[in-house]
Amino acid sequence: MKKITVLGSTGSIGRQTLDVVAHHPGLFKIQALAALDEVDILCEQVHRYRPACVVVYDDSKYKQLKDRVPDSVEVLTGQEGLCQAAAYEETDIVVVAVSGAVGILPTLAAARAGKRIALANKETLVAAGDIVVPLCKDMGSELIPVDSEHSAIFQCLRDENKSLQQIWLTASGGPFRQFSREQLQQVTVEMALQHPNWSMGPKITVDSATLMNKGLEVIEAHHLFQVGYDRIQVLIHPQSIIHSMVEFIDGSWLAHLGVPDMRIPIQYALTYPDRAATPTRRLDLIGMADLHFEQPDIERFPSLQLAYDAGRRGGTMPAVLNAANEVAVHHFLAGRLSFVEIPEVVAYVMSRHQAKVVRTVNDVLQCDQDARELTEERIARGG
Ligand code: MG
Repeated sequence: MKKITVLGSTGSIGRQTLDVVAHHPGLFKIQALAALDEVDILCEQVHRYRPACVVVYDDSKYKQLKDRVPDSVEVLTGQEGLCQAAAYEETDIVVVAVSGAVGILPTLAAARAGKRIALANKETLVAAGDIVVPLCKDMGSELIPVDSEHSAIFQCLRDENKSLQQIWLTASGGPFRQFSREQLQQVTVEMALQHPNWSMGPKITVDSATLMNKGLEVIEAHHLFQVGYDRIQVLIHPQSIIHSMVEFIDGSWLAHLGVPDMRIPIQYALTYPDRAATPTRRLDLIGMADLHFEQPDIERFPSLQLAYDAGRRGGTMPAVLNAANEVAVHHFLAGRLSFVEIPEVVAYVMSRHQAKVVRTVNDVLQCDQDARELTEERIARGG
């Protein structure tokens, strides 16, 4: 029986994780749950999964939560609460499914405690991969990707890094793959939140539409698999059936295929190296018209290029890219920034940053903070 902590349990990945757990009551038990501020959903989850500990990040919601869960359940709050839950003694696996850079400190806490980390939060590796990956190695903490592409690569690559030629990260291309520049200028929030294949939270759905999500995944792949940027290629594949591929030096390619359902990679991160049955729909290749591939267009989707640039520059630059993007997406969702302005703002903030080597997590957090302030200023100024 594996005991699991879910950070971000009310979000899309968190809820699907609980779904996986519910299907395998003999394999998994929920040890701790954490969420930003959704007390009603958290209470329902506590009632159903009976964790020993529950965290609400927003401390103004602490009392409300405390009053509604049994006394036997430990109630925590804030960043500190998240970190405590991540390092919870009884826990075997920590699913990091919070959205954004808030995942950095709890992931480090889980690594320090030697937990298996099922990582669904790509921003943590993008911003702090230089710290997280070596720490996991030192502490014997297994870092298993939940992101579907990285789960695919992880499964194809196994331990054959030395024979790897290159990684092929597939991308759906998002809902605006065929839009002209003029059409992209007219994109609304409602349009950006309609993803053709995957059902996900709002931040990542917008990132998928700008291709920033793929850019962040390039940096994530760089850290997870310790591969240089010249050997990570992005390929548009609108059907999202091939979840990624690896090409070996002998000309062999391995691809990972499946229906686009996040419960499959989530479950694999929990059962690895074993597999277990899932109730998900099965892949029907015969019923499929065709599988299509094309090159990404960085002219129309400059966010992808910005991410490569930030990754190649390295040090604190990816943290700045990520922070600027988080703030820009937040303003886009609130209707204060247009779709095409998102990469413009990110490019501006990157141009103002002098990248430094990352030595401690504070280097990352400081740059993250500065970049957020600069992004806010730039958006408030407009133009
Ligand atoms: Mg992905």
